Formats: sequence, structure tokens, C-alpha cells
Amino acid sequence: MIWYPYIQMKNMKAPYKIIDAEGVYLHTEDGKKLIDSVSSWWSVIHGYKNPELNAAIISQVEKFSHVMLGGLTHSPVEKLAKKLSEWLPGDLNYCFFSDSGSVAVEVALKMALQFFINQDETQRVMTLALEHAYHGDTFKAMEIGDDEDYHFILKALGKNENIIHIPAEIETLEKTFEKYHEKLNSFIIEPLLQCAGGFHIHSIEFLRRARELCDEYNVILIFDEVATGFGRTGNRFVADIVQPDILILGKALTGGYIGHAVTVANKKIFDAFYDENPEHALMHGPTFMGNALACAAALKSIEIFERENYISKIKNIERIARREFQNFSADVIKEIRILGGCICIECRNAEFIKGFQDFAYSNGVFNRPFLKYIYTMPPYIIKEEELVKIFDVMKAWFKIKI
Ligand SMILES: *Cc1c(COP(=O)(O)O)cnc(C)c1O
Repeated sequence: MIWYPYIQMKNMKAPYKIIDAEGVYLHTEDGKKLIDSVSSWWSVIHGYKNPELNAAIISQVEKFSHVMLGGLTHSPVEKLAKKLSEWLPGDLNYCFFSDSGSVAVEVALKMALQFFINQDETQRVMTLALEHAYHGDTFKAMEIGDDEDYHFILKALGKNENIIHIPAEIETLEKTFEKYHEKLNSFIIEPLLQCAGGFHIHSIEFLRRARELCDEYNVILIFDEVATGFGRTGNRFVADIVQPDILILGKALTGGYIGHAVTVANKKIFDAFYDENPEHALMHGPTFMGNALACAAALKSIEIFERENYISKIKNIERIARREFQNFSADVIKEIRILGGCICIECRNAEFIKGFQDFAYSNGVFNRPFLKYIYTMPPYIIKEEELVKIFDVMKAWFKIKI
């Protein structure tokens, strides 16, 4: 049987069965046509069955689907690395591919630790992260995430003293750097918008100060843009505004077509690995890194993103959201947060969201609320009337329940 994610299997309700999908719509076995208001975990930015993405993959599959990168290389991965190097800001030029965001996070953390070990700074063993952080479900990614929100089993292992969690406040950040800088190797952060931990937004000033402190104390700044990358915050990448040393991309990288991710390092990081010593090499190599189908999809996805001016589409989603939620409130709502293509209603209690998924389904929308949050991150190609329909369904729930 299938073991489904993040759910008690014993009493989970049956998932909706999808038999076809096109544009923003999912078609279910029982004849429903649902707007996918969460873009399949925020990845399907162009919608489903995009003819250009389909064609790119079909054309590559006719040559080969996959060859390993150990001792071999190929044109799709070369082109994608070149495109990312040109496209990403500054000297974020060194692309290490992997098959998922969690693995790409592991790679970034390994790079940060080894960066110092390669320079005989073996005391740099600590990582700084934020409260409410989510960086994936593998073990190190869990540790730097916030176990209050997600990874409850970690408590059984006891606190890892080498990982510090702080709130996103400048003063706390400064104090933490002062106190721990000799042992810190990196500060990892979902910049501007922390997604799975509850769509918390911090200021760009916080990130600017983080950059300054990292420079001052020689600590590596890592941006996990697995969720925020490719426009979700209304910026192409937050890294365009404040530049990290290592940038992690995933989710929308392939337009949601195939699981793939990339850890992109700047020259300073790469240079600490690049010498005659074999022990200074990065010892990592996911079997499916640089998968040719994933690279073909990613190249096409970026091409469409640029050509169709997606940033203006995302700004438009934000504008419509602000208009539709202006003056909307209810006692049970703690806060409504809107940034780029992400709209979140934080409720005062988790009880309130129960039943919303089925309510949305019966109204033609697929949604997946969690913790205390009802949110949408729609595909960027969504039309205004479809977007307004999602918002209307969200708003209707509050009217019905009160
Ligand atoms: C989803 C997510 C990950 C993990 O990516 P997977 O592909 O699910 O392993 C890591 N970081 C952030 C910010 C994410 O949103």
C-alpha cells in the first residue's frame, strides 16, 4: 500500500484521485474539475500539461533520459549550469545538482562545514537558523528546522548543541553573532518568507544585517530558496536583493515536472575546495543528479519564465489579493499575510481549519490547509476570475463557520 505523507494513516480520509490535469485544473476520478490553489506543493508554476515543457521532455527522452554525472556529462546539464550562472546574481556560478530540496540543503550544510575544515578551521561546527524554519525532512534538514512545528521525533535525540534557533529580529541576530561567531560556520534562512513553518515574513533589513554580520565574522550565508525562488515573493529570487554565499533552489526549478534541486555556491566557497588535495573535494553524488529530463524541463521553464514576464504576473496576483482581502476580517483570524504569489490566513486555532479541504473541494478548489494556516500559492498562469474564485472560497469558509 501507499504510505502517504504527514498523516496518520489510520484515520486519514481518502485522497482525491487525479486522472488528468491541464492548466490550473486537476481532474478527479469522480468527475470534478478543481483549481489547484497550491501548485502541487508550490512547484507547478506554469500549470499542468504545458505544451512547451511536454515537448522539451519528449525531445530529450528520445535521446536519453538519464546518464550519471560521475565520469559523464551531457548537454542539458551543461546548458542549465551555464544558464543558472548567467541568470543568478553575482558570482553564484557553481551548480551542484541533486534530486530534492532536502538533499540540496544537506549539500549546502556540508559545503559550509567543509569550507572551514579545508582551511583547518575545525572549530566551526555550529549552524544558525530561525524559529519556524522548514528546510526539508532529512535528518540534518530536520535539525535546522523548527521541531515545534514539524519534526517532533527529534526531541527523542535531545537537543543538538551545534544548532541555534533565533527569532527573525536584528537585535537577537547581532547578539548571537557576537556570542557564537568563532564556532559558527553558517546562517541558513528561507529569505523574506518562511513557508512551511507558517508563512512568516521578515524584513529585507534583517537580511541586509545578516549579510553584514556574515561578512564581518566570516560566516557563510545560505539562502534556502527552494520555496521562495522563481518569483514566489514577487522578486525573481530574494538573492537578487541580498546576495548569499550559497543559494538553494528546488520545487519550481523544473516547473514542477520532475523532482530536482540545485545548490549554487559562489567563488569564495568553490575556491576553498579547488586545490591539489583529494580530501578537499566535495564528497557527495546523488545518483540522479543532473538528470537529463529534469534539466531539459528546467531550461524550458526558465525560458518561459523570462519570456512571459512572470514577475508582472506575480505582481498582478499580489495586487488582486490585496484588493480582495481589503477590509476582510473575522474574530478567528489572527493575521492575513500577502507577499507576491503567496496569500496566507493565519487562524487563532487549528480547529478552525478542519473541514476546509472538503468545503473547497465541493466548491471546485483543491486546497491543503495545515497547522493554523489556510493559504494559497497558485500557479502563476492563473486567470483573474480563477484567482478570485479561490479567494471567495476561502472567505466563504469564514462566513459559514461563524
Ligand atoms: C520543500 C522545501 C524543502 C525540501 O524540498 P524537498 O524537495 O521536499 O526535499 C526545503 N526547503 C524549503 C524552504 C522547502 O520549502
